[in-house]
Amino acid sequence: MSKTPSSLENFALAKLDGMEAQNLRRRLTVTEPLGAVEVMQGGRRMINFSSNDYLGLNQHPLIKKASMEATEKYGAGAGASRLVTGNHPLYQELEMRLARLKGSEDAVVFGSGFLANSGIIPALIGPDDAVFLDELSHACIFYGARLTQGAHHVFRHNDMDHLRALLEAERHKHPHAMIATDGVFSMDGDLAPIGNLVELAGTHDAWLMTDDAHGIGVVGGGRGSSFAHGARHAVPLQMGTLSKAIGGYGGYLCASHAVCELIRTRCRTFIYSTGLPPGAVAASIAALGLIEGDREFTERPLTLARTFTRELNLPAAESPIVPVILGDTDKTLAAAKLLADESFLIVPIRPPTVPEGTARLRITFSAGHKEADVIRLAKIIREKIIGEDVS
Ligand SMILES: *Cc1c(COP(=O)(O)O)cnc(C)c1O
Repeated sequence: MSKTPSSLENFALAKLDGMEAQNLRRRLTVTEPLGAVEVMQGGRRMINFSSNDYLGLNQHPLIKKASMEATEKYGAGAGASRLVTGNHPLYQELEMRLARLKGSEDAVVFGSGFLANSGIIPALIGPDDAVFLDELSHACIFYGARLTQGAHHVFRHNDMDHLRALLEAERHKHPHAMIATDGVFSMDGDLAPIGNLVELAGTHDAWLMTDDAHGIGVVGGGRGSSFAHGARHAVPLQMGTLSKAIGGYGGYLCASHAVCELIRTRCRTFIYSTGLPPGAVAASIAALGLIEGDREFTERPLTLARTFTRELNLPAAESPIVPVILGDTDKTLAAAKLLADESFLIVPIRPPTVPEGTARLRITFSAGHKEADVIRLAKIIREKIIGEDVS
């Protein structure tokens, strides 16, 4: 019989108290989906403006059907790591389709986006090497960089002069280097300057990895940030997730065949983790089928986001993510509560997820939102939230 040591209890309680005092305690809320954009939370029916399911695909009948059929055929789980016996027949099809969408030679699918970033970076970058990261990169990019045990250099958000200066000062000290950044920034919705990054990466022989968790399906005709504004940038490491616009679960890397093979052989989060459930892989295949065939559909979330930014006189949205930065955490919590009373679910985002002093409403737009609801949301924010600010 084991007894929990009281020092453990004390440690946990003290930590929680500290976070409570700073308004940083996080809590889970049961949220029941009621369709593509509506949810039930705390007995209230609300329109969800906080989901990353930008295309409403997680509720799409064809995708649910594909998932159920695969579960019937192959079972609920993969049963083992892909390198053991978990590499069920659907994986090949998914990796082929991802590579085709992203214009890469090959693709490798992971358990999640977090597992992808925390595995890819240390599989390619060693203790003598360096990673150069945008300061607003996702937490799992920082986590992956830390696991390399090499150097990491953080550049100011989208500041190419700063990145160039760091590369000039530091790159020569290391055999290999990587530049890692979100392609579409998860909390700000802006895009990385991919063309400039490709150029700097080329000049300094640094391997560029973009994280397109919020790009695939909704930016660049659904192909992601490397293809935004009609471009076609050669990014050697295009990483992303199947858990947002794709509507299911999983992560991926699109790269050359050699790099993908190295990842399959060397990457610990790929090797030592069970394959995805067949239903999840089938759902992603079906989702990619819908995205490839319908460019107009992939543009709808951005169109709605632009309606919203126009209504509020904000700079035009570049992606389906629009931050309304209020700064103060208490004020942001109050704003979210006010919006909830109007049946809009917008989860307040606060430090440490975003930098100190930049607490915000992070509003995300989905193909299933009604334009009238977007306009009503903008009106309430203008009159009751930003309005207060000005007075
Ligand atoms: C959500 C997210 C991830 C993690 O992907 P999961 O599949 O949810 O683990 C990685 N990077 C960025 C930028 C994200 O927003």
